[in-house]
Amino acid sequence: WKNAPANLRQVAMVGRAHGERLFAIYEDERVTYDAWFRAVAQLAGELRARGVEKGDRVALAMRNLPEWPVAFFAATTIGAICVPLNAWWTGPELAFGLANSGAKLLVCDAERWDRIAPHRAELPDLATVLVSRSDAAPDGAERLEDVLGTPHDYASLPQAELPEVEIEPEDEATIFYTSGTTGQPKGALGTHRNLCTNILSSGYNGAMAALRRGEELPAPVQKVGLTVIPLFHVTACSAGLMGYVAAGHTMVFMHKWDPVKAFQLIEREQVNLTGGVPTIAWQLLEHPERANYDLSSLEAIAYGGAPAAPELVRKIHEVFGALPGNGWGMTETMATVTGHSSEDYLNRPDSCGPPVGVADLKIVGDDGETELPVGEVGELWARGPMVVKGYWNRPEATAETFVDGWVRTGDLAKLDEEGWCYIVDRAKDMIIRGGENIYSSEIENVLYDHPAVTDAALIGLAHPTLGEEPAAVVHLAPGMSATEDELREWVAARLAKFKVPVRVVFVEDTLPRNANGKILKKDLGAFFA
Ligand code: ATP
Ligand code: MG
Repeated sequence: WKNAPANLRQVAMVGRAHGERLFAIYEDERVTYDAWFRAVAQLAGELRARGVEKGDRVALAMRNLPEWPVAFFAATTIGAICVPLNAWWTGPELAFGLANSGAKLLVCDAERWDRIAPHRAELPDLATVLVSRSDAAPDGAERLEDVLGTPHDYASLPQAELPEVEIEPEDEATIFYTSGTTGQPKGALGTHRNLCTNILSSGYNGAMAALRRGEELPAPVQKVGLTVIPLFHVTACSAGLMGYVAAGHTMVFMHKWDPVKAFQLIEREQVNLTGGVPTIAWQLLEHPERANYDLSSLEAIAYGGAPAAPELVRKIHEVFGALPGNGWGMTETMATVTGHSSEDYLNRPDSCGPPVGVADLKIVGDDGETELPVGEVGELWARGPMVVKGYWNRPEATAETFVDGWVRTGDLAKLDEEGWCYIVDRAKDMIIRGGENIYSSEIENVLYDHPAVTDAALIGLAHPTLGEEPAAVVHLAPGMSATEDELREWVAARLAKFKVPVRVVFVEDTLPRNANGKILKKDLGAFFA
């Protein structure tokens, strides 16, 4: 044990000390912390035996399965850089991630291997592939179960130690890809310290919030969380997985997001915490089968990653009696940068909270230099131990985005007197109509307030003289109706005329989103063609 608390070997040792507490539940597989640690140590030794050295990239491509956190810790505790790949990616996209990161070893599930295998010849660095959940030994790959057993077997693996490797907090631990909402995904190169920032500051943040509200500090207890967002998204890993291992909580995994399955799991496993992204919370609220399940164990529904309408906060509180929470972060910050929950959030439902104790925020004007005063909208810049070193293999993008320890977020925001942060739009999505700035979230939130609307997005349509005009794509709750004129009048009664969508298009399904729950605004223009 060294003085520096920020490295994943130490997080793994804390995890081991949770012993017989349940770590992960997936279908009929139940893995205790002790069994998980045995599997981590076993796989870490197997990776070393296959030539994985400190700094080598080990890619991970699978759904949320118990072997995901095993492989993640096996790679990072021996100093390799783990590269979680998006399980929704197609074969060419997965091959891009493997080639871009120069991965030497890949751990994946059979479904991902089917997509990657045809690209093997394009990946000269990829020496070893371990495939889980494959019936037969795949061509050119080993079965993960042959070296590790199945999750049912982890408890009977020998109790081994992690291979000896020196790790410093500034050593590189991960490459997580950004969501690709605005362009080609970029690999954010994160350190052990970046990944540990959440767990080092979360207890402190909770304590600070309680003191601010004049409450007693909550007693630590074991919680069960339903992990519905994918582990390859940095939030599920840094806030979810890291936090769970540190605290000894239990993660319940789902094969694939499905609200009814979520209700069943919440009831059966007595789930206390869930959420992830706002759209998941909406779907739990809206589903007609919700009333058929006992969801009384739910204590908190927290999310981030995308704008959340104030209407959602109020509904979560009313319908579930659970406490809503919102956090802001980005892949480039690895961990939560702002966040709040319970009364704080109910009192400021349009905010994503104040900065966590270890983060600094500032709002910068169009010149890219001047810090703007309280209440003015500009680009949000963030600084703190969660900000990554830069992008993997992207020196130009790194130089543009990371400036003197600050990350330029590309989000437009304002701060209030007490430091609470309000995201109003992404800079790339802001609509400029004849010189007037229109921030999407303002109009989207008014649309969400309409009783029939459950999904809404604003985009700009090209206009010959004004440049752009606002237009909305909307999805209505089942059984509810509204017309285009009615929604335009609804907005006109509440906001300035230039903000009223010139057109409103209704869609049958919820809006197109990527794997991380973000609306793909770049695809919405097609609805107006
Ligand atoms: P790419 O950078 O590849 O275009 P992305 O920005 O969607 O994709 P992520 O790093 O997953 O990739 O997402 C970070 C972004 O998500 C933030 O910049 C912000 O726009 C949005 N976001 C995150 N949390 C919140 C929140 N609580 N409220 C509003 N927006 C949020
Ligand atoms: Mg981004």
